Amino acid sequence: MFTDSHCHIEDDETALRAAAAGVSVLLNAGRDLDEAAAQLLLCAKMDERRQAGEDAPQMWTSAGIHPDSAKAKLARICVAEIVQAAENPYAVAIGECGLDYHYGADCIAEQKEMFARHIETAGITGLPLMIHQREAEADMLELLRAGVRRFGKLTGVIHCFTSTQAFADAVREFGFYISASGIVTFKSGAAVAEVFKSYPADRILIETDSPYLAPVPYRGKTNEPAFVCKTAEKIAAIRGLTVEETARITTDNFFNLYQKAARRRSDTGRARA
Ligand SMILES: [Zn+2]
Repeated sequence: MFTDSHCHIEDDETALRAAAAGVSVLLNAGRDLDEAAAQLLLCAKMDERRQAGEDAPQMWTSAGIHPDSAKAKLARICVAEIVQAAENPYAVAIGECGLDYHYGADCIAEQKEMFARHIETAGITGLPLMIHQREAEADMLELLRAGVRRFGKLTGVIHCFTSTQAFADAVREFGFYISASGIVTFKSGAAVAEVFKSYPADRILIETDSPYLAPVPYRGKTNEPAFVCKTAEKIAAIRGLTVEETARITTDNFFNLYQKAARRRSDTGRARA
């Protein structure tokens, strides 16, 4: 059983194709509180299908604002609104949030303020941060360190990790997870793949970030959660594991990080038993 720890999907069919390919757990990441209602509906629909005996995935979502729209949303979204969005039973993470100085070099101050609000939300709710990071390593570490000083502890993942060994070493100190996307299967992703060789086995996740970044051999196609197996194969190869072991480890890691998902999963299991 594979877990896609970060995807963006909108329809039943894509989710059902994932389950048919053995990808039974999905975190359908929120980029905006406005799209939360549709995402929650899709999560609930998958539960209903499973209860009706269909092969549908367990789906979770998250509460947060992608750094792409930090500037536009800064005046509208406060901490209390993110906290409220995170109270939904399917919302297991705070994000997708973070800093992107590649596309957002013109609004660094706004991004930092918005990310700080997400860190505060994570501190208040105890939920893990699901973080997007691009070309903003120093500011990200500064904000995370301030968050750890204030709240004692933060948990989280750097999703679609594309940074350096030094950044991996730094987030490892917080006990953070890093998540491998299809980029580790690209020739140009060799240095990123190398980081996943030595990172602690209990702190690694896999994801598609679909519909973007389809892994080899699907590169250039629209990505979907069913393809996460290809990223699992690559992680298995570089760590000397079987694909089955990689699937099990990354699924266990997912539920260790997203404990709200683990709690709800065992509750539903008991209810059905
Ligand atoms: Zn994403």
